[in-house]
Amino acid sequence: DRAVDALTRLVRDVPDFPEPGVLFKDIAPLLADGPGFAAVVAALADLGRDDAGRPAVDKVVGMEARGFILAAPVAVALGVGFVPVRKAGKLPHDTHQVAYALEYGEAVLELHQDAFAPGERVLVIDDVLATGGTARATCELVRRCGAEPVAFAVLLELGFLSGREQLTDVPVTALTTT
Ligand code: IMP
Repeated sequence: DRAVDALTRLVRDVPDFPEPGVLFKDIAPLLADGPGFAAVVAALADLGRDDAGRPAVDKVVGMEARGFILAAPVAVALGVGFVPVRKAGKLPHDTHQVAYALEYGEAVLELHQDAFAPGERVLVIDDVLATGGTARATCELVRRCGAEPVAFAVLLELGFLSGREQLTDVPVTALTTT
């Protein structure tokens, strides 16, 4: 599988980033590799198609910031729209907000209230699933905006953090797991 091969070769482990004791998965070498980037975008886009190959979602959502890099080309590949989930204070129009706990303190994510038509089906994409807090908050936000998160997908799942347990009602797909 081309996507799995690219992820295996091109995601770099960076020790002690952003703080001591954390092994950071850096996707920059993957993004910089044309065939590798294309392979992971194609694999993610396949998750938004039905058995006949037609788009099965109405929107693709990506979370700031690396989620944008993946979700936008997936949306184009599917022929559907892209919607950004942003950190607090960045979106200019009326928003809904969800706060979630970080290791220290909390973070707030926002979506435009009018980002979706009622009941739209949404594929949510990020680079890495760690504790699951970001993914869970994003899916809650999508619902608050009147749409349905029908799938959550990442390039890489840090399985030892059990993040997928935060997402009981949305199917989770990780192209690779460590
Ligand atoms: P979570 O909310 O703990 O699941 O963390 C996931 C969020 O943090 C995602 O938006 C990721 O982009 C980011 N993240 C956490 N760990 C890593 C990593 O090792 N590499 C890249 N991003 C990470």
